[in-house]
Amino acid sequence: MKEKTIKKLTADVLILGGGLAGLYTALNINENKKIIIASKEPLGKSNSYLAQGGIAGELNTDEKVLAKHIEDTLIAGSGLFDKDAIKELVYDASENIKMLIDLGVPFDVDQDGKILLTREGGHSTRRILHAGGDATGKNIMETLIGLIRNKKNVTIIENYMLYDLIVKDEKCYGGQLISMDNEFCNVFADATILATGGIGAVYRDSTNAHGATGDGIAAAYRSGVELRGMEFVQFHPTVFYDTTGTIKGQKFLISEAVRGEGAYLLNINGERFMEKYDKRLELAPRDIVSQSIMKEMYDTWSEYVYIDARHLGKEFLSQRFPTIYQKCLESGYHMEKDLIPVAPVEHYGIGGVKIDLNGETSLANLYANGECCSSGVHGANRLASNSLLECIVFGKRIANEINKKSSSKINSWEIDIPFSMNKNSYHPIREEIRNTMSKYVFIVRDEEGLKLALTIINRHYKNLCKHPFTTVDYYRTLNIATVAKLITEAALARKESIGCHLRIN
Ligand SMILES: Cc1cc2nc3c(=O)[nH]c(=O)nc-3n(C[C@H](O)[C@H](O)[C@H](O)COP(=O)(O)OP(=O)(O)OC[C@H]3O[C@@H](n4cnc5c(N)ncnc54)[C@H](O)[C@@H]3O)c2cc1C
Repeated sequence: MKEKTIKKLTADVLILGGGLAGLYTALNINENKKIIIASKEPLGKSNSYLAQGGIAGELNTDEKVLAKHIEDTLIAGSGLFDKDAIKELVYDASENIKMLIDLGVPFDVDQDGKILLTREGGHSTRRILHAGGDATGKNIMETLIGLIRNKKNVTIIENYMLYDLIVKDEKCYGGQLISMDNEFCNVFADATILATGGIGAVYRDSTNAHGATGDGIAAAYRSGVELRGMEFVQFHPTVFYDTTGTIKGQKFLISEAVRGEGAYLLNINGERFMEKYDKRLELAPRDIVSQSIMKEMYDTWSEYVYIDARHLGKEFLSQRFPTIYQKCLESGYHMEKDLIPVAPVEHYGIGGVKIDLNGETSLANLYANGECCSSGVHGANRLASNSLLECIVFGKRIANEINKKSSSKINSWEIDIPFSMNKNSYHPIREEIRNTMSKYVFIVRDEEGLKLALTIINRHYKNLCKHPFTTVDYYRTLNIATVAKLITEAALARKESIGCHLRIN
C-alpha cells in the first residue's frame, strides 16, 4: 500500500448532493457562509430532475384545507408516521412553494395566469403543482441550478462522491470524497448535510437516476448514525414495461398524474380490476395499487398490466404529458390508440437517516434532507408528490438552523488514506445483489425468501468489508451491499404487513 496526495478544503457548510434537497437548502443559507456542494454526478442528473407528476402543497392556508392534506398523508402512511413532522410539512408548504415561484420556477398556469393543479393517488383533491406538463423536476432543477451556479459563496464540486464522513469526538466535521478518477479530497466543515438521494440501484429495475446507490445512508451507517424505516421501499405501480426486453437501466415512469387525469388500469384480458381491491380505484395510494397489480399479474400469469388512457385523446395527452407521450411513441405506442404495458418497479426509498424537525441527525453537526433521510412524514407509504415538498420544507428548516449559528474557525487535520487500487470489476456482485433484492425483497415478502436474500447479501457484504479498496467501484458496491442488507434485515424484523411492506408469512 502507498499513500496518495489528498486535497484538503474547508467550508462553513458541506452539502453532499446536488438534487432538490441539496440545492434548495443551499439557496436558503445566508450568503456570508461559505458553502461547498459536492455531487457524485453533474448537477442535473438526479431523481429530482426526473420528477414528473408535480409537487404537492396547499397555497391556501385555511386550516380546513391544510387538515385535508394532513389527513391524506396520514391515511397513505398507514399509521407509522411522525405527526408533528407531517404538520410542519403541510403548514410550511405554501411559504416554500411561493419561494420556488419567486425564484422563477415556471409552474403551469391557465390562460388567466392561475396555477393549474392536478391530482394523484391518495389525494382527496387537486393540490399538485406541475411544470412543463410532466416535466416538473426538470423545470424546478434547471431554475435552481442556474441560480446556484451564480452564487459567489457556493463552490460546486461535480463528479466527487462522499465515501465516509469525518467524525471525531462524536461530532461530524465533514466528508471524505473520492472523484470518478479515484482522486481524493477531504472537506472539513462546521455543518455537513447529507442530500445524496435514493436507493434505486439496490434493485434490478428502478425509475431512479443511475447514481442512486444509497451512499449517504451507507456512510451514515458506517459512522453509527441512527437510521429508520429501511424496510419501507415504495414500488411505483405504473412503470413502462418493455415487452421486447431491450431497454436496459433506468425504467421509464408513466406518472400517477395520468391516472389522476382519468386513465384506467386493465389486466391482460382487458378487464378493469381496481374495483376488486379498493373503492378509490386507480387513485388509491401507491402501496395498494402496486399490490393489486401484483395480484392481478399473478392471477393472469402475466408480467404486466395495461394503462388505458385512450379516451383522453391525442390532443390532451400530448399537451398535458409531452414527455410521457413522446417516450411511449419512441417505444412504438400511441397513447390515444394503444394500451400501454406497465408493471411495478422500485421507485422511492422511504427509510433513511433519521432526522428531527430541524433536519438534525443523531450525530452532532450532521443534517440530512430529501430521499436519503427519514423525517417521518411518509410513514409506511409515501403520499404521491410529497417528496419534492419534503426536500424544500426540511431544506428551509435546516438552513434556518445553520443561519442561527455564528461562523467559527474550521478545524482541519491530515487524514491518511491507505491507498489500495483493485482493477477487478465488482459488477457481478452488484448484479447478484440486485437480482436477489428484486426476487426476494420486492413487493410481496416472506420469511424464507428474506432469510435466503440476507445470506446471499451478507456473504458479499462481509467479504467487501474484509477486503477494502479505495476506489469508486468498491464504494459503489459496498454501499449497495450495505443498503440491501439494511433493507432486508429491517424487512425480516417487521413481521406484520403495513403500507408498502407486505409480509405473507
Ligand atoms: C422518475 C421519477 C419521478 C418522480 N416524480 C416525482 C413527483 O412527481 N413528485 C415528487 O414529489 N417526487 C417525485 N419523485 C421522487 C423525487 O423526485 C425524489 O424523491 C427527490 O427529488 C429526491 O431529491 P434528493 O435531492 O433527495 O435526491 P436527488 O434528486 O436524487 O439528488 C441526489 C444528489 O446526490 C448526489 N449524490 C449521490 N450520492 C452521492 C455521494 N456519495 N456524494 C455526493 N453526491 C452524491 C447525486 O449525484 C445527486 O446530485 C420522482 C422520482 C423519480 C425517480
